[in-house]
Amino acid sequence: MYERHHYISGQTVEGTSGRFGPIYNPSTGEQAGKVALASKAEVEAGIAAADAAFPAWSGTSVVKRARVLQNLVQILYREKDALAEALSAEHGKVFSDAQGDVQRGLEVAEFAQGIPHLLKGEFSDNVSGGIDMYSMRKPLGVVVGITPFNFPAMIPLWMSCMAIACGNTFILKPSEKDPTVPLMFADIWKEAGLPDGVFNVINGDKEAVDTVCTDPRVKAVSFVGSTPIAQYVYSTATAHGKRCQAMGGAKNHMIIMPDADLDQVADALVGAAYGSAGERCMAISVAVPVGQQVADKMVEMLKPRVEALKVGHSMDPEAEMGPLVTADHLAKVRGYLDLAEQEGADVVVDGRDFKYNMQGYENGYYLGGSLFDNVKADMRTYREEIFGPTLQIVRAESFDEAIRLPSEHEFGNGTSIFTRDGDTARAYVNNVEVGMVGVNVPIPVPLAFHTFGGWKNSAFGDINQHGMEGVRFYTKTKTVTSRWPTGIRSGAEFVIPTLNS
Ligand code: NAD
Repeated sequence: MYERHHYISGQTVEGTSGRFGPIYNPSTGEQAGKVALASKAEVEAGIAAADAAFPAWSGTSVVKRARVLQNLVQILYREKDALAEALSAEHGKVFSDAQGDVQRGLEVAEFAQGIPHLLKGEFSDNVSGGIDMYSMRKPLGVVVGITPFNFPAMIPLWMSCMAIACGNTFILKPSEKDPTVPLMFADIWKEAGLPDGVFNVINGDKEAVDTVCTDPRVKAVSFVGSTPIAQYVYSTATAHGKRCQAMGGAKNHMIIMPDADLDQVADALVGAAYGSAGERCMAISVAVPVGQQVADKMVEMLKPRVEALKVGHSMDPEAEMGPLVTADHLAKVRGYLDLAEQEGADVVVDGRDFKYNMQGYENGYYLGGSLFDNVKADMRTYREEIFGPTLQIVRAESFDEAIRLPSEHEFGNGTSIFTRDGDTARAYVNNVEVGMVGVNVPIPVPLAFHTFGGWKNSAFGDINQHGMEGVRFYTKTKTVTSRWPTGIRSGAEFVIPTLNS
């Protein structure tokens, strides 16, 4: 059984708290390792190391910082499959999907290579006699990323690449469920030429999170995870004077208009609902066909596709969907399926009946795909996030009724509409109360040079992940008013300077 510890100031630091969390291989159901859970004092040692590294790193030229990012990109491409294999073993997503997890993070590293351009400030020449005015973006200091289990490569890279390129020093507090890939990143950053202390990994749980959210040396906290913890982190970090962005849970709807290509919709839905066993914050978990005929046809087309989903060991090249992440999460998702039935939803395909030949992996945390029809907006299973391989069909009679569902839902992460009608698509894009919208695209995850973030209870704080918003989150603006030559004298002035003075 392997052990995972911390990484501080360029080296592995053994955990001393005596507390460990289990790491499972969800494909086999065996405990594969354990991860050290940091005490407050261990976290404080990490913060001190990052704090000590800040003056030199923030003073390193922006071109040299960009070159470290360039090296990082090359090494990430070289190590992509090794990272994906390690990720797949602890998370349970299939290998090809794990490669996508790494790739999506790597693309933020590619974007961050352009940091000399992204950090350029503004300049106004001669705003008044001999006075120039300019602004620049300065790094914040020690910043922290707290990440969820479901994208152990992409989300740590979203945060660390932008933070470090901007000149900050960074502490990653990854999910305790899959800490191996985040620790592999530590070696990769080092090989890329990053000085010790700039990228640190501290494994831990609530104690570590509470410490980083309250320590005055930490200037900003970026969080991605479930909504209750996002709210907690946001309120704790901001109450302690920190900048915070905290992304939470989701319930993503796909609206299917009667004129849509239903074959295309059915294929898009199975991928978007069941890929990664539904453990994606951008998974489609609710399908909203408009009109009874469309709904009946969708059920007819989806049923055989869901029944035919190939579930298997995450490294089985035939598998389309692997296991869920832990036995606890499996039990939680099964509980929601039981509840959906009690609440009166129609079970079209029951993933609990799943009985494939698991070729010796019967103890893995597997669940088949489920499909529920006639789900109603007041059901608990509709209002809450399930985060498993299940799709709920909520029938709507009209476009107006359909758009109200995601707009009035507590969450507002992603949504999608399938239609051939431009007017309808445009009305949906402009009016739906959701942060990321797809038109005939099932999972509208923005690329690195745009920005990622939901609305309502899917995100707390005003600034999103990556893109220019990432630069804004990890920097503060300094604006300078400067007079050259200094020889101009107008005597003492007691009124606020204006352009008339
Ligand atoms: P989680 O909230 O359980 O854990 C996220 C992080 O918070 C982990 O690092 C964990 O160690 C820490 N944490 C857990 N409990 C804590 C507590 N009581 N106090 C302080 N810290 C605590 O989330 P998860 O199960 O790892 O991830 C799945 C969730 O993340 C889903 O809700 C999913 O929708 C969401 N998610 C959201 C986005 C997004 O961008 N909106 C992206 C990915 C995942």
